[in-house]
Amino acid sequence: MSRSKRREAPPDPEPLSPVIDAHTHLAACGGRDAASVAAILDHAEAVGVRGVVTVADDMVDARWAVAAAEWDDRAWAATALHPTHAGDLNDETAAELRAMAVHPRVVAVGETGLDYYWLDKSDDCAPKSVQHESFRWHIDLAKEVGKPLMIHNREADRDLLDVLADEGAPETVIMHCFSGDEAIARECVERGYVLSFSGTVSFANAASLQAAARVVPDELLLVETDAPFLTPHPFRGAPNQSYVLPYTVRALADIRGTDATELAAHLYDNSRRVYRLALPDQ
Ligand SMILES: [Zn+2]
Ligand SMILES: [Zn+2]
Repeated sequence: MSRSKRREAPPDPEPLSPVIDAHTHLAACGGRDAASVAAILDHAEAVGVRGVVTVADDMVDARWAVAAAEWDDRAWAATALHPTHAGDLNDETAAELRAMAVHPRVVAVGETGLDYYWLDKSDDCAPKSVQHESFRWHIDLAKEVGKPLMIHNREADRDLLDVLADEGAPETVIMHCFSGDEAIARECVERGYVLSFSGTVSFANAASLQAAARVVPDELLLVETDAPFLTPHPFRGAPNQSYVLPYTVRALADIRGTDATELAAHLYDNSRRVYRLALPDQ
C-alpha cells in the first residue's frame, strides 16, 4: 500500500449505537471552532457515537477543551497537564486547573499519570521526579473536586500503581488506553479501576493486551479512540476520529467472545455512570 493511501481516512463503519468515545483529542483531530467541532461530532453521531470526552494535555489545550464542551453538548472535557508537560505546574496553573476542574462540563481530571517512554526521547519531557509530583497533585485534585481521575501510563505500570496506592486513589480511576498485561489488568480490576481500551487492542501483535481485555468485568470497561492516534486494525497508521470507534467496539467484542450490540450497551451505561453524563437511557 502506498504512503498516501495509508493516510486516507478509514471508511465509515457500520453504525453501532449508542456508544461514547471515552477519550479523544478534538483539537488535534482538526477541531478549531464550534462549526468544525460540530462537523466531527455529526460524523461520529451518524454511526452511533453519541458523545465524546475531549482530553487536554497542556494549558492551552485545557482552555480549548472547556470551550469545545461549551460549544457542543455532545462533547465533555477532561483537563490536566499531561505527564510530559508536568513541568508546567506552578501556583498559577494549579489555580487555573483547580477552577477548570469544577466546571460543570469538565467530567474528569486528566490526562495525568506517568510517561517513561518519552523521558530519554524528548528534551521537552518532564523528568521522573517532576512527573511524580504533578501526578500526586492531580490525584489530590480529583479527590478534592470529586471527579474521576483519568490516567495516562506509558511504560510506567509499577510506579504508577504504587504512587496511586501511596497517595490514595480517588473513588473513580480510569486507565486510559490501557496497555498493560493480564497481571496488571487483574490488579487494576481488584482495585476497582476502570480500563479503557483503544484501537491498540485490535492490533495484530496485541496478544498480551487482548488477554488483559478478557479479564475485565463488563462494568469496568470503557472504549476510546485516543484520536487522532491509534487507529484500529485494519486502518493502523491512518488518521483517527471518533466516528472510527465502532471498529474498536466490534474488535473488543470479538476478543471477549460477546455480541457487539450487547457490549456497546454496557459501554454506554459505563460511560454515563463513570463520567456522570446527563444522557438518556438507550
Ligand atoms: Zn494518553
Ligand atoms: Zn490521549
